[in-house]
Amino acid sequence: GTTDPALQNEIRRVKREVIDPNPLARLQIGTHPSTGNFPSVEASEKLARELGVSLNVHLLESKADLTAGQMDALRRANALHSGLVANHVIQTTDADLDELAAAGVSVAHNPLSNMRLASGVIRLPEMKKRNMKVGLGLDGGTNDTSDMFNVMRAAVGLQRATTTDPAVYPTTADVLRMATLGGAEALGMDKEIGSLTPGKRADLQLVDAQAVNFAPKVDWVNQLVFNTQPANVSWVFVDGRALKREGRVVGIDTAKVVADAQLAADRVKKLLPQ
Ligand SMILES: [Zn+2]
Repeated sequence: GTTDPALQNEIRRVKREVIDPNPLARLQIGTHPSTGNFPSVEASEKLARELGVSLNVHLLESKADLTAGQMDALRRANALHSGLVANHVIQTTDADLDELAAAGVSVAHNPLSNMRLASGVIRLPEMKKRNMKVGLGLDGGTNDTSDMFNVMRAAVGLQRATTTDPAVYPTTADVLRMATLGGAEALGMDKEIGSLTPGKRADLQLVDAQAVNFAPKVDWVNQLVFNTQPANVSWVFVDGRALKREGRVVGIDTAKVVADAQLAADRVKKLLPQ
């Protein structure tokens, strides 16, 4: 998000020349909602609207966010609508949830980040009661493992641990939906992706059900959520193209990726105060 016209033009150019020609890429405009940052919130909302893309904000994540005037900044910028994707949405009142639900705002739930950063526990059952669109996410560098199976487990586990109710929302079937069609709905892409449906893109993963940590078959849905590890995913197809084949990432030298990441990490470490 930015109020700088030159940077806004650069965002328009990147969308046109880099994002739009790539069927696997989508642009969102990110800003940080707060009273102090209001000009950027307003400019970002306008740019997102102009480009027909979602506005992405990290909202009511920690207790510190409660004094930042986040809801007020979004309200004044006319940003509370179905084009808003709000990450976290943890430190909420019932009135906040009513307002976000009525506006059709989507939520990205990032349970591993929330645990790592001691942010709190999202009120998923109350969101479900209000029919809110919720998908699962990794947040960024604080996601522990970049493992969506772990994200599903944590989303179920946090609710069970805090309510002591094993039937609390989400069940394993609910969280599997949240990880697939729920995420597509939250991004406004459920006509294209999110389920194995004729006419949609062929995005699928094959899990090795004979793996020692997975077999024998008892309940596939429970096992997908509670037992699966990334190493159990033998094939990944995106839009019908195999990106992982028999357990190996296709067309990518993973050793080189790791070596490049090490160089980058070392460079960043040198820049940090010792
Ligand atoms: Zn975040």
